[in-house]
Amino acid sequence: MIVRNGEIAFVGSLSDPAVQAARDQGAAERDIGGLKILPSFIDGHMHLLLLGQSLTKVALDDCKSLEDIRERMREAARNDPGAKRLYGRGWMHSMTPDGVDASMLDDIDPRPMYIDAKDLHSTWANTAGLKEVCDVMDLDFEGSMPDPPGGSFSRDAQGRLNGVFNESAVFEIIWPFVARVASIEERKESIRAAIEAFNACGYTGMVDMAMDDTIWEPLVELRNQEGLGGMRVAAYWLMKPLKEDSGIDAVFAQVDHAAKLAREFKDQDCRVVGIKVICDGIIDACTASLTEPYSTGINPDPIWPEEVLHPLVKRAHDAGLQVALHAIGDRTINTAINVLEKNTDASRRPRIEHLELASANDAARLGQLGITASIQPVHADPAILRAWPRLLGEHRCKRRFAYREFADGGANLALGSDAPTAPHVPLPNLYIATTRKSYREPACEEVVNPEFALTVCQAVAGATLGSAYSCFADQWTGDLRVGKKADFVVCDVELEPEGLIRGVVKETWFEGRQVFQKE
Ligand SMILES: [Zn+2]
Repeated sequence: MIVRNGEIAFVGSLSDPAVQAARDQGAAERDIGGLKILPSFIDGHMHLLLLGQSLTKVALDDCKSLEDIRERMREAARNDPGAKRLYGRGWMHSMTPDGVDASMLDDIDPRPMYIDAKDLHSTWANTAGLKEVCDVMDLDFEGSMPDPPGGSFSRDAQGRLNGVFNESAVFEIIWPFVARVASIEERKESIRAAIEAFNACGYTGMVDMAMDDTIWEPLVELRNQEGLGGMRVAAYWLMKPLKEDSGIDAVFAQVDHAAKLAREFKDQDCRVVGIKVICDGIIDACTASLTEPYSTGINPDPIWPEEVLHPLVKRAHDAGLQVALHAIGDRTINTAINVLEKNTDASRRPRIEHLELASANDAARLGQLGITASIQPVHADPAILRAWPRLLGEHRCKRRFAYREFADGGANLALGSDAPTAPHVPLPNLYIATTRKSYREPACEEVVNPEFALTVCQAVAGATLGSAYSCFADQWTGDLRVGKKADFVVCDVELEPEGLIRGVVKETWFEGRQVFQKE
């Protein structure tokens, strides 16, 4: 491979005259020995600011109980006496089977404390934290207020907020709250940390799946002041669900705002490319919408009524925007495909995020309609799916993460990590996609529907060119073709499923410039 002016000028045999010509011109040469060069990775679905912020939160991932969590937070409070607030991450409901509330954290430290669930669909605050959120976000602390559309506040026996926020109450209250109380300098610092962490594991591209003004503002400022280093960001603007009394115009206004930014920001390194709509929740919280009820008897509706999705998607399409729909349950997936089929088309490369429980029929429709299957194999790790058989029954588990059917149907696959909800390192993602085994618990023998495994080639392509294609970045990056940007990684990896887990990214290159070197 010959790199010139940041682009790939030649790929082929050493005996080609182009190689001799480059030598004659004094090109620097590099023999990478037995290592491998792959296109650098592009995370097809992640959360930039949250990732950056999470890098500094207290990790609770290996806690087993409420006592472990309390101990870890107590230690963090001791170690950081200057912090205004304390943040934790990685709490799983299974660690606290009897449920949680603010009072369980109150004796640890007087400062506000916020703990994210590992899936980011719940946040648990202490009483000081709950009061601060209510204050800043103008909520009624006594809790007479109703739940937000698409989410809930957990409450005590008297109906008062108990400190736990769920689903849209997290996305629309906690996330903006955290972004708001963080200064713009702190947000820029978080974004810088996220970019650095991503370069250090082989990424040169990020697709942000929940962009809003609190993230966009520091991102653009950072970019204008010092550039984004070795990273390009494509963003999907998050649509907020309707309040009871607001009409469709409130939705259109959000689409128009995204469209305006998309016209304004078109440069390769920092673009608004579309909108994101979170159509349902997740299986573990029984908030993903299914065609048959959960075994608990619950049968939640999707977050957005279908009659709102139609005009919303049409408005976005007419404005030249891409549409990304979060759909996890089979009922929501079916609706999402119907809505995309009717209101946009393959020329816009529409996409569905997650696709965790698709019917065979819907799996086949993705490719026919030019819909990208945006998948996060790290969410298919058997170690985090233990509640599914109980919630869904074994028969429905047979439909979990039907990646191979998406590929066989001709859909573009874009692989992502959904960081910080899951580990962001790319090679483990490929390992799970191809082996369907656990990265979190390597000794675990469970295999999740092996018939849906991707080949190594499909997985690598999905994590590079597929993600680039999903947001129209394939014009300049995603593979090692002449004329593309010289974005690549040097890896020590065996390209077979079992070997991927041991793979190491040694170097990351962006436009012919090295942006990471492993020590
Ligand atoms: Zn996400």
